[in-house]
Amino acid sequence: MDTVTAIATAPITAAVSLIRISGEGALSVAEKIFFPFSGKPLSASPRTAVYGRVEKDGQLLDRALCTYFAAPASYTGEDCVELCCHGGRALTELILSIIYEAGARPAGPGEFTKRAYLNGKLDLAEAEAVGDLISARSVGAVKNAAGQLSGRLSREVAAIADGLTDLCAHLSAWTDYADEGVEPPDMSDVGSRLSRIRGELSRLEGSFSQGRLYSEGVRIAVAGSPNVGKSSLLNALAGYERAIVSDVAGTTRDTLEVNADILGLPVTLTDTAGLRDTEDSIERLGIDRAKREIETSSLVLQLLDGSLPLGKDDLYASELARDCGLPVVTAVNKSDLPPAFPLSEGYIAISCATGEGLEELKRAVKDALGASAEPDGSLVSNRRQAAALRLSGQHLDSAMSALSSGYTPDLVWIDTEAALRALEEITGRTASEDVLNRVFEKFCVGK
Ligand code: GDP
Repeated sequence: MDTVTAIATAPITAAVSLIRISGEGALSVAEKIFFPFSGKPLSASPRTAVYGRVEKDGQLLDRALCTYFAAPASYTGEDCVELCCHGGRALTELILSIIYEAGARPAGPGEFTKRAYLNGKLDLAEAEAVGDLISARSVGAVKNAAGQLSGRLSREVAAIADGLTDLCAHLSAWTDYADEGVEPPDMSDVGSRLSRIRGELSRLEGSFSQGRLYSEGVRIAVAGSPNVGKSSLLNALAGYERAIVSDVAGTTRDTLEVNADILGLPVTLTDTAGLRDTEDSIERLGIDRAKREIETSSLVLQLLDGSLPLGKDDLYASELARDCGLPVVTAVNKSDLPPAFPLSEGYIAISCATGEGLEELKRAVKDALGASAEPDGSLVSNRRQAAALRLSGQHLDSAMSALSSGYTPDLVWIDTEAALRALEEITGRTASEDVLNRVFEKFCVGK
């Protein structure tokens, strides 16, 4: 493997920046640009941060910390050097350029993690978990990615693959040695093993509907008439003042978005313009956008003002949402004021002013989205993995129907083997170069 380098930290002005070098020449490249104050070579103290000078042609550029990881005890499994320098853009770019001159080439997106995968440090699902961990937007997303990184999902996949491998071996023994008097397999036993494995596959595949909530996030349209408190609710849920709060009806004309963590779920809340009949052409545009927003959301949070009698348009958004088949959670705001109508069943009384009812509202949102499983790394969270499970399940269905149609064991075996191959794409055992490229091109450079 040639030697690659990249800045691993974000390309912004910051206190410190981390530059990575990995590959056979990592140490010799680092020794051309970094000089320990101790005078001892970097190789004398692997896995220890060494303080020294970064120089170009004898000119000091920075004082930095440098750590050498000798292969295979490194992230990539290769010789690796991590240089912690000061974080200015010009400085890090300059240091990077002298690392190129010293013999490293720029790393591609995800190239360090791809090398870790190719060197057996991570399987493919764990490598994807690294990407998910970096892009996680909520506590639940972090927990699921961290659980996957520690091999939770990979172990579940391996257990199912193990059952399939056993079955393939059982079926192929007869296929290969039938002429030598090997007894045919007990097909009712094969049938019950196939259906047990099918059940496990379906359970894992089913976890994607929850796992994707954490990896992809959820859009929630906060809808309600002007002045019911939509902006106030966004601020209360996001935990900071982002939306404009005003007591002039119809002030929020544009769709406003804020990101929030609702009991571990990463959500994007959109504050839509109040849906009502209006002559105002600018407000009309906002209302059309609000309708589109509702149609592209996963849930509508219908907000009402409990201190005023219900108006004719107040429930318009929830009716629209139900027509689109979306779940609706209805909250009645301003519970700190005297109520103007009795609370209907399922409605949640809240006050954005005092915070009352907000926890109950968050739980109701999570329930309505069906996010009941613990995001512990056992939830399938990306489409590639879900597609591999689906394909594996389809092959198993074919194996089961071959069996029930009375086909010979070799035909059942072909489909069982195909199911195993599809399943093992998840951890990468059977993934093609094309699949690998698609996985790693989504990573940022430096990871
Ligand atoms: P929007 O038009 O639906 O976005 O409503 P805003 O969030 O701008 O709020 C409209 C008005 O209602 C503002 O004056 C808020 O201070 C007020 N308001 C919002 N929530 C509450 C609440 O829980 N209690 C009371 N008393 N006033 C609230």
